[in-house]
Amino acid sequence: MEIICLTVGDLATHCYLAIDEETRQTLVIDPGDEGDFLSTTILENNLVPQAIILTHGHYDHCLAALELKLNFSLPIYLHQKDLFLYEKAHLSAKHFSHIAIPKLPPIDHFLKDQEIITFGNSSLKVLHTPGHTPGSVCLYSARSLFSGDTLFVNGVGSTDHQYSSASDLKKSFAKIKPFSTNSLIYPGHEDFGLPLVATPPHLFS
Ligand SMILES: [Zn+2]
Ligand SMILES: [Zn+2]
Repeated sequence: MEIICLTVGDLATHCYLAIDEETRQTLVIDPGDEGDFLSTTILENNLVPQAIILTHGHYDHCLAALELKLNFSLPIYLHQKDLFLYEKAHLSAKHFSHIAIPKLPPIDHFLKDQEIITFGNSSLKVLHTPGHTPGSVCLYSARSLFSGDTLFVNGVGSTDHQYSSASDLKKSFAKIKPFSTNSLIYPGHEDFGLPLVATPPHLFS
């Protein structure tokens, strides 16, 4: 699997293109913004996108979902427990970043824990990891962990929101520990493609 990271939008969110090298079939993980840039990159690299996967429903991870869906006829995948965030993403974008976009299109498929998403000869395993948001997921493949805002290279995802849960996040860390300690981490923000550099002991104990 080849990975291209594109950093987009006001909050410098990482959109990842997870590419099956033989077939060029690709999953678009978190199209946060700048749909033109993402689409051009997909075309220039001769990629064959299959689906849009959202690690969670925060607006900075899904603002370009409509544009990519329309450009490439892609289904959008999200965990059902983050639907309430996704459905108000256009309002949050306006409120927090003064960005005007239409309401996002309906979700085509709700992600399930342990589900395998296949693209070409590659696949990603879905791990439901609530905490940062109730419907956060991580995606694992061959020593790569796409962790959304659940886990950063330097440790912790935030639990600042009223719908966040520090105790759920702790359980989620325990769940992804076997994957995260042997993997390079591809989080929603900041450093990527590196091993964990600081493991918060209170979360992994
Ligand atoms: Zn984020
Ligand atoms: Zn987030």
